Amino acid sequence: MAMSIIWWFWSLLAICASDTFREKAEEIMKTTPVIDGHNDLPWQLLKLFNNRLNVSKANLNTLTETHTNIPKLKAGFVGGQFWSAYLPCDTQNKDAVKRILEQMDVIHRMCQRYPETFLCVTSSSGIRQAFGEGKVASLIGVEGGHLIDSSLGVLRALYHLGMRYLTLTHNCNTPWADNWMVDKGDDEAESEGLSVFGKRVLKEMNRLGVMIDLSHVSVATMKDALEYSEAPVIFSHSSAYSLCDHRRNVPDDVLQLVKSKRSLVMVNFYSYFVSCSKDATLSQVADHLDYIKKVAGAEAVGLGGDYDGVTELPAGLEDVSKYPDLIAELLRRNWTETEVRGVLSENLLRVFSEVELASNNMQVPEEEPIQLDELGGSCRTDYGYSQAPSIHLQIGALLAFLVPLLFSLNLL
Ligand SMILES: [Zn+2]
Repeated sequence: MAMSIIWWFWSLLAICASDTFREKAEEIMKTTPVIDGHNDLPWQLLKLFNNRLNVSKANLNTLTETHTNIPKLKAGFVGGQFWSAYLPCDTQNKDAVKRILEQMDVIHRMCQRYPETFLCVTSSSGIRQAFGEGKVASLIGVEGGHLIDSSLGVLRALYHLGMRYLTLTHNCNTPWADNWMVDKGDDEAESEGLSVFGKRVLKEMNRLGVMIDLSHVSVATMKDALEYSEAPVIFSHSSAYSLCDHRRNVPDDVLQLVKSKRSLVMVNFYSYFVSCSKDATLSQVADHLDYIKKVAGAEAVGLGGDYDGVTELPAGLEDVSKYPDLIAELLRRNWTETEVRGVLSENLLRVFSEVELASNNMQVPEEEPIQLDELGGSCRTDYGYSQAPSIHLQIGALLAFLVPLLFSLNLL
């Protein structure tokens, strides 16, 4: 009897304590909501509805097939979201640019259709404005360097349409950057990190104020970008390699560079990146946050759940309503209020502000295009590149003039 009373007492105490952490988390999140680095809802809108937001089943207030809907975002205290504009690698050298324009368009239409919930913004001050209005600041992250089709002009055009980060690769090399599959041995290294043109892309992103996202790239590309970028960089949805040795995660030597570059790792919740298996828990996600904090500092930690981009999620983090439970777990693990506010929003806002400060529209844009023979694909025109054949023609014409002349002078 006495034992059962003691057990009952301790259980009650544990429940009360956990409620206190959860209450404290919500209290903090009222003024510092989550800014999540990566959510694939736009990809779901393409797959489920071919981007038609007006069909009744696509109503974001009642949509149930996805990890994300408006009630869940509100329950999760989500105040900022980088919506992923993503297309798989099989669009490379095909219709990648047309389709990325469509994914950016559907994000703009989400803001237009639900103006009481979403505010499309493109700056750190815009995010704070959305916080003030109690809306979800909605930003665009373009996932995959193949989506600019090796063109600085396309890069700039996407910036004008609202792109504020570009993931340098998805699961394939671009002609100018290597992807993580190279490290796994499933893909050939082509650029050994970033090519000469890849460094030009990086420089132009710095000039424009587009954040450089290193989730999905090879370790050599990570190191090149961390070395050459003039501003901090992000991993929009990656976890710690030392806790789960998946090549999509960030190894310790790169975490050191993240620390020295005042950059950010937004932790991915995908079970296979958290525990390296189908099953994972909220507590294991907190382990990744703890680990990155230990190696790179609390100011290097953020959240990039990868909701609606993955199939397996940890118990306790099943959808976007669950962030407060994760924050409660951090408070339970003695993270300070400042550290927690950093993970929620402030770290991303700092990095984004530094990227904005480093940008400089007064500088001359990068103009030198990629070489024609570096491009893949068989359906290309070569306008602008056609000086090369015309130089040959000029040399031909010169020879056609010189040879008879030399003959006439009996010199040949
Ligand atoms: Zn991804």
